[in-house]
Amino acid sequence: MAAILIDGVAIARELYAGYKERVKALAGRGVHPGLAAILIGDNPASEVYVRTKTRACAEVGVHSVQHRFGADGSEDEVIGLIERLNADPAIHGILVQLPLPPRLNSERILQAVAAHKDVDGFNWCNLGAMVAGHPRFSPCTPLGVMTMLEREQVVVEGSTAVVIGRSVIVGKPMALMLIAGGATVTVCNSKTRDLREYTSRADILVVAAGRPGLVQGSMVKPGAVVIDVGINRMPDGKLVGDVDFDSASRVASRITPVPGGVGRMTVAMLIANTVTAAERHAAQSPGR
Ligand code: NAP
Repeated sequence: MAAILIDGVAIARELYAGYKERVKALAGRGVHPGLAAILIGDNPASEVYVRTKTRACAEVGVHSVQHRFGADGSEDEVIGLIERLNADPAIHGILVQLPLPPRLNSERILQAVAAHKDVDGFNWCNLGAMVAGHPRFSPCTPLGVMTMLEREQVVVEGSTAVVIGRSVIVGKPMALMLIAGGATVTVCNSKTRDLREYTSRADILVVAAGRPGLVQGSMVKPGAVVIDVGINRMPDGKLVGDVDFDSASRVASRITPVPGGVGRMTVAMLIANTVTAAERHAAQSPGR
C-alpha cells in the first residue's frame, strides 16, 4: 500500500493562519514583529531561501529587512551589523543565511547574534537550554519535523527513532527533540558501519545527510514514518531528498515529499520563532 503523504505546504498554511492572529494581537499592543536576514556572498540557493523566507514574512505580516554583503564582506563588518541589529528595538529576530563563504568564521558570526533574537536557534545559549530540557529558541528544521509529527498525530513516545546525520543544525537537535518526546533514539553518521541495520528498526526515520538516494525502500521498516530532510539539486536541476521516494513510499506508512515537505516547515518555524521573540519583547516592555 502506498504511504500517506505528509504535506508540509498544507501544514504550513494552517500554521500561518495562527501566526497572522498573533501578529494582529501584537499590533494591538503597538509591536510589529521584525526579522532581519543577513546574506553574505552570491550562493544562488541562499538567494532562493532568503526570498522564500521574506515572502513568508509578508504573508503573515512580519516586517522583514535584508542586509547583503558581497563575497568579500569582512567578518568584522558582519559582526558590526549584527551588534547594531541586536540593539535595534524594531528587530526581534536575526537570521544569518548559511552556508557562509568558507573564509569566514561561521561560529564567530553566529554566536554574535543575541540569544533573545536568535530565531534560528544556533546560539550556544539556546542549544544548551535545549540540551537541559528548557528550550527557548530551537533550530527551525528539527522543530518543523516535530511539529509535523504532532500535526500528523504520530506517536513519538515509546517509538524507536533513527536520525541519519549529526550536524548541529539538524541531526543533533533532532535527536534531542525526539529524546525529549520519549523516543529511543539512534543517531547515524557517515562512519556508521551498517546503516540498514539501524534504519530497518526505526518506527520514525529522519534522514538528514545530503546524499540523494541514501535510503532505499528495502532499508525501511514496513509501516514506518519517513521524514526526508535532505535537499539535493540534481544535475538536471531537479530537487530531491535523501530518500528514494518511489521505493520508500511503498513500504512506509507516511512519508514527506521533497520539495513540499520539511523545507516548508523550516520556514514556518522561523516565522513562529520571530513572532514568539516579538511576544517576549512585548511582555517585557512596560505599558504593552
Ligand atoms: P551536514 O552538515 O553536511 O551533515 C550531514 C550529516 O550526514 C553528517 O553528520 C554526516 O556524517 C551524515 N552523513 C553523510 N553521508 C552519510 C552516509 N552515507 N551515511 C550516514 N550518514 C551520512 O548537512 P546538514 O546541514 O545537516 O543538512 C543535511 C541535509 O539536509 C542537506 O541535504 C541539507 O540541504 C538539508 N537541509 C534541509 C533543510 C530543510 O529545511 N529541509 C534544512 C537544513 C538542511 P559525518 O558527521 O560523519 O560527516
